[in-house]
Amino acid sequence: PPAIAIHDITKRYDGAASALAGLSLTVAPGESLAIVGPSGSGKSTLLNMVAGLDRPSTGSVTVDGVRVDRLNETAAAKFRRARIGMIFQFFNLLDDLTVLDNVLLPAQLAGTPSARARARADELLGYLGVARHGGAYPGRLSGGERQRVAVARALMNRPALLLADEPTGALDSVAAAQVRDLLAAVNADGQTLLLVTHDAALAASCASRTVELADGTVARDTHGSVARDAE
Ligand code: ADP
Ligand code: ADP
Repeated sequence: PPAIAIHDITKRYDGAASALAGLSLTVAPGESLAIVGPSGSGKSTLLNMVAGLDRPSTGSVTVDGVRVDRLNETAAAKFRRARIGMIFQFFNLLDDLTVLDNVLLPAQLAGTPSARARARADELLGYLGVARHGGAYPGRLSGGERQRVAVARALMNRPALLLADEPTGALDSVAAAQVRDLLAAVNADGQTLLLVTHDAALAASCASRTVELADGTVARDTHGSVARDAE
């Protein structure tokens, strides 16, 4: 079965034009997609639907065999914790927790035994080059370091699906290159990856398929049957 099956979804916010307008998309397990398109084309709305953070007005969203569009908020939060890792442009770390506690949080929410969670957190922080910051608060770290911590948090529960929304969008070029390399390495692990990005180098190093949105629907897909030649 596909990792993600989106069938003909629409999303209309009150008083706004449709954010999504009849979008369908199927993603195989282990596939890595770059979602591109102009501002306002529906990229973030699409990621939110997959994560169960928002619901379509019509249509269905199936992730890992689960109809996420039918989950209530509590069930959706549980589903996210168990199966999805998320990386955001502005990191979304909790500023009143240390780096280590931020990374441990998903494991705690999932009920992972603490010794095992700690070993996993140490391994990830080491791998991502931020082990020496474990006791620090995120506010003391640079943007690139914060994003590496956020990547560690996203990977903590070994999610089958990784969602990233402009993960290099707030970073300088050196930090962006580091995060790019890390995401490419992480991606080699065979997780399914949905990556919203304007960073062409990131898309090139991480994604094997590019889906372009325009006006809330798929305008171009380098892989699927609706592909249209841009030239
Ligand atoms: P992108 O990520 O491609 O920039 P978005 O998914 O953020 O696009 O937005 C798609 C459209 O939906 C835009 O017109 C945006 O203004 C609108 N939109 C997104 N979120 C909301 C919201 N919470 N309320 C009203 N309109 C929204
Ligand atoms: P919620 O109940 O709204 O899902 P949580 O209390 O579970 O929020 O999460 C607290 C913080 O951890 C939030 O900032 C959220 O964005 C982040 N978070 C939750 N789940 C994940 C995840 N799977 N990957 C990355 N960050 C997450």
